[in-house]
Amino acid sequence: MSALQSILTRQVGLATKRIPITALAVFFVVLVCLSLVFVDGWRSWTARDIQLHEMGVSTSNMTRAIAQHADDTIKAADTTLVGLVERVQADGTGAAALQRLHELLVRRASELPQLQGLFVYDENGRWIANALPATPSNVNNSDRDYFIYHRTHLDTEPYIGLPIHSRSTGVWIITVSRRINHADGSFAGVALATISIDYFKKFYDSFDIGRHGAIVLALNNGIMLTRRPLLNDYTGKSMANTVLYRDSISKKAMGTVFIVSAQDGVTRLNSFRHLEHYPLYVSSALSRDEILADWLKDTYLHSAGVAILLVVLGLLGFHLVGQIKLRLNAEAELVRTRDALATLNQTLERLALQDGLTGLANRRHFDQVLDKEFSRAVREASSLALVMIDVDCFKQYNDIYGHAAGDECLRKISEVVRTNQNRPGDVAARYGGEELGVLLPGTDVRGAMAIAEKIRLEIHNLGIEHSGNSAGVVTVSAGVDAVIPVLDLDKPLELIQAADKALYAAKSGGRDRVCENTSASNSHRSAAQQEPLTTL
Ligand code: GH3
Ligand code: MG
Ligand code: MG
Repeated sequence: MSALQSILTRQVGLATKRIPITALAVFFVVLVCLSLVFVDGWRSWTARDIQLHEMGVSTSNMTRAIAQHADDTIKAADTTLVGLVERVQADGTGAAALQRLHELLVRRASELPQLQGLFVYDENGRWIANALPATPSNVNNSDRDYFIYHRTHLDTEPYIGLPIHSRSTGVWIITVSRRINHADGSFAGVALATISIDYFKKFYDSFDIGRHGAIVLALNNGIMLTRRPLLNDYTGKSMANTVLYRDSISKKAMGTVFIVSAQDGVTRLNSFRHLEHYPLYVSSALSRDEILADWLKDTYLHSAGVAILLVVLGLLGFHLVGQIKLRLNAEAELVRTRDALATLNQTLERLALQDGLTGLANRRHFDQVLDKEFSRAVREASSLALVMIDVDCFKQYNDIYGHAAGDECLRKISEVVRTNQNRPGDVAARYGGEELGVLLPGTDVRGAMAIAEKIRLEIHNLGIEHSGNSAGVVTVSAGVDAVIPVLDLDKPLELIQAADKALYAAKSGGRDRVCENTSASNSHRSAAQQEPLTTL
């Protein structure tokens, strides 16, 4: 594995250790849920914008159509007036001329459905011709605002007057008028066309503007001509103080804005446009709530779907995290069981190799180590020493002090032997009964003798009372042998026998002493004795 790979593996390992897998799973589920909510929210908001934009366009188109209609309607009436003015100015107001004029007015009025009436007044406001079957006598219109306007203004442009109640029919009408001049340019009267407001209303009724929509036709100065729906006779009232008029209509030729109505509190999308040829404007409005009704329904449906999806995801995530926890717990349990088993095995292994009373290696372990060290000594041609130790007159000790005290005494002796294992390879074992063996790899007979003597002395110096022993305290005897074994020539058993033999000699010699095996049964032992490999 390369250095980079090992660094990466370590990093990933550390990261996984730092963030528990359950936290990652929870994070993932939450992330998916939030993404879902975000994406759906974003989609809904975009759809809302598109819906508003589309309705803005269609409101604007509707306003354009209404403005065009108003422009065309007035234009047709005004064109008739231009003809009338010319006729009166050219033909005068003689009886014959007025008769022809009357016929013309009747014809024109019947041709244009928007015309409620056509009138000609002389310079004093008297009716001199109209489109009615008969001209009423003693009717004077000099008080009307259009009449006063033309009398006081020299221009011959059309004038759109304030909405008024018709004197002939009593309905609300819009007046379009032009000044008639005498040949010298002085005021000769007024030609007037009246348009029934109802004509516009019928047209406006043909649009689908919802329950809270509105359409308005008004003069540029804010005086309302008509409105759909008609609210408490709005005709003739000024709208100049409304926010829509003040901030938008009075400032721009056309536009589309959202306004909260001061009257009913409804927020509307208002589109307005001034007429091209006449000082009027139209505006149409759709309620924002109605515009967004379909979008809202769609959003509710989507939100319900997303909510169900979130619940399902949440439940699945919850289940997933639960499963992960279960798996982690099972894994942890497995690891604990494995560790417990390993500990148990170690204990069993130790117990299988350890003597229960003394804590030293048992005979089985001793035999295994002896075989192993013997082979190694053969391979490496190194010296292997063995010290066999036997407690003196231990039978009597038991007899005098009891078996339990004998056990305790054995433990103390074993402790001394155990502390005299100086190297890692040294093994002290309970060879059997009250006989102990110390295997010393890489140690020659001189070194082993020194260790054995040290052990003997330390045990003697323990001063454990033993009245049955000639020394008065517990003592041990030890036999020592060392060998540089040769393959197929020497056997481990021979080393034990040789050390035992030396032990026997120590016993025979009076006990509480150490003897080495002196019988040089083969050449390699003599060599080891002549040339010690190690010392204490
Ligand atoms: P010698 O000096 O010749 O060795 O005399 P000895 O009495 O020690 O003779 P021997 O070695 O034959 O005696 C062995 C005695 O050690 C027999 C037994 O009572 C005692 N013994 C062996 N194992 C144990 C043990 O585990 N606990 C106790 N308390 N005594 C043991
Ligand atoms: Mg014995
Ligand atoms: Mg003994």
